[in-house]
Amino acid sequence: MSARTIGIIGGGQLGRMLAMAAARLNHRTIILEPQADCPASQVANAQIVAAYDDPQALAELARRCDVVTYEFENVPVAAAQALAESVRVYPPPRALEVSQDRLVEKRFIRDCGIATADFAAVDDQTGLEAALDRFDGVGVLKTRRLGYDGKGQRLFRLPTESRHGAFAALGGVPLILESLVPFEREISIIAARDGEGTIACYDPAENVHRDGILHSSTLPAGIGEATADEARKAARAILDRLDYVGVIGVEFFVLPGGGLVVNEIAPRVHNSGHWTEAACVVSQFEQHIRAVAGHPLGDPRRHSDCVMQNLVGDDIDDVPDWLSRPGVLVHLYGKTEARPGRKMGHITRILA
Ligand code: AMP
Repeated sequence: MSARTIGIIGGGQLGRMLAMAAARLNHRTIILEPQADCPASQVANAQIVAAYDDPQALAELARRCDVVTYEFENVPVAAAQALAESVRVYPPPRALEVSQDRLVEKRFIRDCGIATADFAAVDDQTGLEAALDRFDGVGVLKTRRLGYDGKGQRLFRLPTESRHGAFAALGGVPLILESLVPFEREISIIAARDGEGTIACYDPAENVHRDGILHSSTLPAGIGEATADEARKAARAILDRLDYVGVIGVEFFVLPGGGLVVNEIAPRVHNSGHWTEAACVVSQFEQHIRAVAGHPLGDPRRHSDCVMQNLVGDDIDDVPDWLSRPGVLVHLYGKTEARPGRKMGHITRILA
């Protein structure tokens, strides 16, 4: 039986777009988010204003909802596990555990038989020196937890670069050093799995980042069919291994020759899947709602080529121009203040 009321942990733009998709299928949504009047609560039925791990708020969410999902991967795992004792929680909390720690994530991806960058755990400055020596002095140093949009990272591009104080500079927290992947392009795939194990994959998107933030996703990606198939195969392996229900985003580096290396996974709807609302009959947001609410998955086929572009900070000033152009879908997130680096909305341009 399908769920009536869907709880969403997290009140950002992804929660907002999930709530809008849910409403179209007659589901009610309740947002758990400490910030009042957040982007999601503006379009949802109700908000519980409390911390993500507030026991009373979680109990209330479980009581009022038929199923609970989340819109960001840093939901406290203990909170998701506690919730799962009294209400269905999709995607499974194990997906949070895997994606919250880059070291656990890399090991998990390798266990699925999928390539990742070489990596080494780094727990202090001595460990960093040893790891850099192993990688000939070049690599990307990242915090294991809580990094996003390129934050909490340091690039060692040349073996001559100073390593002095590099461990402390990232906050003295557990790190991971990754080998520098000589990629030709970056792609991602958005895929969904329902409670019966049926999987639907959207076409891979080609992504361009600026200042560590996604700038654009272009469809089709400039890759061959064999590479696209490999991306779908990897997404399927990850979904099955997690006994996953919902939408997942998997980001890849494409090597010269077309081979793939997984960079990271996001157990939620993903920025590089926003194009689906303009170029597919069923968007990633509706697909996620369908999966977690117990409906059949929608058709993921793309009916048009397109480019999705994020509106970051002052890009919001271009909205009047975008609105005056044909074939452009504008989507804004209800944020009043445009700070540098803040995602304010996105547009998708239909190409053909
Ligand atoms: P992440 O936060 O892991 O998604 O990294 C942000 C961006 O940094 C990626 O989209 C890549 O452009 C770049 N990057 C991250 N890790 C690596 C790597 N191991 N090798 C080369 N480039 C990387």
